[in-house]
Amino acid sequence: MTDSAPTPATATAAPGHTVTAVPVTRMGNGHDVELTVHRVTGARPGPTLVAFGGVHGDEAMGPEEVRRLVSSVDPAELSGTVVAVPVANPYAYDAMCRFTPQDGLNLNRIFPGDRNGSVTEQLAAVLAEIMLEGDYFIDFHSAGLYSTVEYAYVMDDGVDMATGFGSPLLYHHAPYEGTSNAWAIKNGIRSTVCELGGGGQLTDAFLDKAVRRGRNMLKAIGMLDGEPEALAAPQTVLTELVTLRPTKGGAVISHFGPDRLGEVVKGGTVIGEVVDPYTFEVVEQLLAPYDSSILVLTRESYTRTTPGDYGFMVGNADTATTLDALFTG
Ligand SMILES: [Zn+2]
Repeated sequence: MTDSAPTPATATAAPGHTVTAVPVTRMGNGHDVELTVHRVTGARPGPTLVAFGGVHGDEAMGPEEVRRLVSSVDPAELSGTVVAVPVANPYAYDAMCRFTPQDGLNLNRIFPGDRNGSVTEQLAAVLAEIMLEGDYFIDFHSAGLYSTVEYAYVMDDGVDMATGFGSPLLYHHAPYEGTSNAWAIKNGIRSTVCELGGGGQLTDAFLDKAVRRGRNMLKAIGMLDGEPEALAAPQTVLTELVTLRPTKGGAVISHFGPDRLGEVVKGGTVIGEVVDPYTFEVVEQLLAPYDSSILVLTRESYTRTTPGDYGFMVGNADTATTLDALFTG
């Protein structure tokens, strides 16, 4: 086995779409682990955008959003290069798990990884290296198997990406240590994280949004011709966002389905309840924590949960702001 770096971009690369396999490691079961890397080289020079999907293996929308967005880009219309890894954690994707089953690690907390480490640490190391090619970076996440989400991160140096992507809800905060996003910022790569869809709910609508918003973002950063549209104006920037996690397993009865995302509900409103499937008792209520709570992640009327799972996410509408106020105010 050889240590292998991604094929470096060259100024003379011909326009087109290539797919390469980048070796990562070899498992004890004899399977070679590799990352599949798509490269769309534009007809004109321009910046490089690196896009990942499937960093979390239970977030199935990311790989499909990357597949549809990358497939929508004709090299003839592109300035610069799109480098995309649709499935960043193949073992977690196969197991439909947030964590890699082989070593129990969350890929998005260990960047820039370790070439001498476990399988997830090695994946992170190769991915971190691929990211260094980018002027821009977008990480496509979604909610997991049973929930649905819609927001995007706005970072101090990635405002053009966040406005171009046009998610009505944005979240501004210091990146968590070890995320791909933190690695991007550390290396001067402008970045955003898209959280869109999940759980087999309103799937077509979210996939369409990913492509429309992704292409609009490419216009905003000068990689596609044309003026970007204001897809959502004004965008609401959340600075406080909490996850309501059931402390008990069982059935979640949601009172606010994914068609209610972005709505404001009053503090104390019962957003969902955990029902014991054995005794039929309501064992927990998940309440809106802020006086004005914006629904950011929610669930279809009946889903299942384990203790500590993502139940709902809500932002504080009273401390929300706008991009103008945050960056020029
Ligand atoms: Zn994720």
